[in-house]
Amino acid sequence: MNARSLHVRLAAWHAGWLCAVFAGAGALVFFGLRHYLENQAALLQTQRAERVAMVVRRVGTAEPRRLAEELNTRFAPEVTARFLRLTARDGEVVYRSGPPLDQSFDPDAIPAASGPAGSRRIWIGNEIELVLATIEIDVHGRSYWVETGESMAPAFVELRGLLVSIGAGFAVVAVVAVVGGILLVRRALGPVEDITRSADRITSRNLSERLPVPPTGDEFEHLSRTLNGMIARLDEAFLHNRRFLADASHELRTPLTVLRGELENLAQEPRVAPEFRERLGSTLEEVQRLADIVQGLLDLARLDAGEALVKRSRLDLARLVASTVDQMMLLAEDKGVRVACRSSGPVWVDGDRSRLKQIVVNLLDNAIKYTPRGGNVELQTGLRGNRAFLDVADTGIGIPPDALPNVFDRFYRVDKARGRDHGGAGLGLAIVKSISTAHGGNVEARSDGRAGSCFCVELPSCPAQNESVDSEREPLVPDSPR
Ligand code: ADP
Repeated sequence: MNARSLHVRLAAWHAGWLCAVFAGAGALVFFGLRHYLENQAALLQTQRAERVAMVVRRVGTAEPRRLAEELNTRFAPEVTARFLRLTARDGEVVYRSGPPLDQSFDPDAIPAASGPAGSRRIWIGNEIELVLATIEIDVHGRSYWVETGESMAPAFVELRGLLVSIGAGFAVVAVVAVVGGILLVRRALGPVEDITRSADRITSRNLSERLPVPPTGDEFEHLSRTLNGMIARLDEAFLHNRRFLADASHELRTPLTVLRGELENLAQEPRVAPEFRERLGSTLEEVQRLADIVQGLLDLARLDAGEALVKRSRLDLARLVASTVDQMMLLAEDKGVRVACRSSGPVWVDGDRSRLKQIVVNLLDNAIKYTPRGGNVELQTGLRGNRAFLDVADTGIGIPPDALPNVFDRFYRVDKARGRDHGGAGLGLAIVKSISTAHGGNVEARSDGRAGSCFCVELPSCPAQNESVDSEREPLVPDSPR
């Protein structure tokens, strides 16, 4: 999972915020409740101190024993776990309650009364918090402090329970926030994934396709429509370019054919002096080269426009390769290169016969061209999994490793001088690639730079069939630049 993806970041933000809000709300409830309980306890103790004061005023302090009995009977501080103390201003303790029955605090540990009147919280040791209320009274002209108090421990037990519940709730909220966040973000970003997947599929070959437009009325719909508008403009520009290339090549073909015819006629003319005839011959060669380039460009323009695969049929690639090799054997013999063809059996593919033949012709022509006299060229067809393959390997001059990624580019020649000597313009392999891609296949070149090269074409295969559709022989290179 990519930690920087929008999915992860949005889900993390969502979960983070939810957890933070829940933790904040939990803390607010906890501390608010604690504050409220402490205030309530202080209020209660102040009211109790008032009631104790009334009893003290009524009974008086002259008989401390009687006063103690009265206070114990009325308020029973030990039983109710409360603290009660009556202290004269001069420090004499007139009455003090004993330790509570539940041992929740030790009355001896409570500091002596020191005013002023009001309520306060004191800690006994580290854990027992006591709320104390103090009021000042006058009995027969003498001032006293009346103190009442109680431990907050029972309230804190409740608070601790609340804290545990908040903690458990937090864990549940965290899980729900993470899972909910992931689901929410996945749902919200679903259209983006659809748009990305479709945009990935769109290349210069299928610019007529469009991105899906989610009918959500939100930014994604707007984005999709905007991108579709851009693709439409690109499509138009590409179409314009292709049409221009196809028209220009088409228009150039006729004058070039006329020019070649005229030059050939002129070369036959007996009145032409031998030295001019030689120059006419080399001019004819250049015109032929030009015609090949124009034809190559026309082929590429048609392939780009998807026009080249109009005649699709099921055919045996192995047979097509064998017959093409037969037709080109003379060329190989002239050059003194041995050509061998191997196949393990029929290899059925669905494609345009003349275009697939063009692949074989271009690759074999290159192999013969770039293999010195006495070398070998081997063509092999077969099946790799459910893919048909054609490997054309030679023992020729090879291709330097840094040139390998570029050999399929248009007008690319490894060594300009080398290509020109052999009459190539650098379009043959570009055409091979375009045809392979148009058939849903691919082609790659391998070479270690010295001992020959190997061109491997892979195409989708189709199930074998009995009927032979590959029996007719076709012209060597239909519409071929070679
Ligand atoms: P060209 O018409 O110049 O041969 P291609 O497109 O067919 O153009 O080939 C591009 C370049 O790749 C060639 O210029 C050549 O240098 C190199 N190349 C192609 N096939 C081979 C091969 N079988 N052996 C060595 N080099 C090759």
